[in-house]
Amino acid sequence: MSYDTVVVGAGLAGLTAALRLSERGQHVLIVARGVGATHLAPATVDVLGYLGDTQVASPAASLPGLSNGHPYGHVPVDQLTTALAWFCAHTAALGYAGGPGENLLLPTALGVPKPSALAPRSMAGGDLRAGGRFVFVGFKGFKDFHPTLIAANLARARLPLSIEARALELEPPPTRRGDLSGRVMAGRFDNEQLTDWLVHALEHRVEPDERIGVPAVLGLRSDAPWQELEKRLQRKVFEVATLPPSVPGIRLFQALSAALRSGGVRMVFGVTAVGARINAGRIEAVEVANATGTHAYPVTSVVLASGGFASGGLELDSFGTTRETVFDLPLSGLPEGHRVRFAPRYFDEQPLATAGVATDDLLRPVDGSSRPVYENLHAAGAILAGATPWKEKSGTGISVATGYAAAEGILVPAAAPVSEAVR
Ligand SMILES: Cc1cc2nc3c(=O)[nH]c(=O)nc-3n(C[C@H](O)[C@H](O)[C@H](O)COP(=O)(O)OP(=O)(O)OC[C@H]3O[C@@H](n4cnc5c(N)ncnc54)[C@H](O)[C@@H]3O)c2cc1C
Repeated sequence: MSYDTVVVGAGLAGLTAALRLSERGQHVLIVARGVGATHLAPATVDVLGYLGDTQVASPAASLPGLSNGHPYGHVPVDQLTTALAWFCAHTAALGYAGGPGENLLLPTALGVPKPSALAPRSMAGGDLRAGGRFVFVGFKGFKDFHPTLIAANLARARLPLSIEARALELEPPPTRRGDLSGRVMAGRFDNEQLTDWLVHALEHRVEPDERIGVPAVLGLRSDAPWQELEKRLQRKVFEVATLPPSVPGIRLFQALSAALRSGGVRMVFGVTAVGARINAGRIEAVEVANATGTHAYPVTSVVLASGGFASGGLELDSFGTTRETVFDLPLSGLPEGHRVRFAPRYFDEQPLATAGVATDDLLRPVDGSSRPVYENLHAAGAILAGATPWKEKSGTGISVATGYAAAEGILVPAAAPVSEAVR
């Protein structure tokens, strides 16, 4: 069967591109080895949190300050604004709040205020910018979430207005499940009326002017337990992102997948895109391998959204050579020479941080002469060169913005010359 577009990857970038293309009438196939970082990262859309060492208050106003070659350089601010509004509209069940004009400041599980452009309504109430009184609630036995640490770190954090924060630790009803992971806790909120227990546990222990932060485990199926909790407690309740897995991220994946399925998009998981059939500078078919062999899907266009090193879109071998794993595209942002060295500390500036594929303004990967490698290949998300998402706090924003822009690049094709080298 042939498709208008094959999207490689089911992370935020691939899901965004596929949804935009399908709503514009395209017949789309997503092929993915597995789910992407949605299941690990908070469900916020972080457009730009830091420019150098300076915290960003307005992503839209700060984007022009980014260096040449940054992925946002191919997404004009008005298109980014459109992409975020589109994203909010297509995830209406999660009620995203915010926009590119102002960053919210949301507490992390370590009690660090993190700038995010968009947050699901279940998290947005944690915005620290207005100051006030907060109580952070932990569940005994639930790993890697320490309300005392969150409260202590936030009390020391530099914030626009001062806050007061305290901690409460509650003992959930016993369960035979030994491992209280985020998924297990969220399942208990879906299936065991844990909301009732939490309402009763909190109603006489929280002051009327306190906002209540709980681990982001209030239901895997939807945010209905959060809605009920806020309604019954008659106070602002908000979810605080946990360490992986990310329950709000899974809800986001489910919301986007449901929209894709109802738009007729086919999603095939557990397969690996391994190459392409090329003719006259165009990809004619994407080759996809599974346990039984390799299948070629004829296509008109392709979106490469295979992620960075973490998801296998990029690979570094034991000889120090970095490669793009599906189409062997030219890479940009690599350190000089081919000897890769890592900086000694994790949060140091890492030499490979900006590695990826460089593109033209239609998000088509380009060669060393800035010409598209294949006329009908577009790229989006963490595979792109030029960003330092961990430092900038921009990873999810880049995925939504470039996923949308790559789809637009396909919908409005332009005839640009294709690299001679690959004809
Ligand atoms: C733990 C964690 C926390 C994070 N926290 C934040 C945060 O707070 N803020 C922020 O902005 N960003 C954060 N990020 C980064 C952010 O999640 C990513 O930058 C972004 O989601 C990347 O999306 P993507 O779609 O480009 O790639 P990914 O989500 O990595 O998805 C890549 C997809 O491609 C598939 N794939 C790869 N190779 C192939 C192949 N050959 N064939 C078929 N499929 C393939 C994978 O299976 C996957 O489906 C975090 C990431 C992690 C892991």
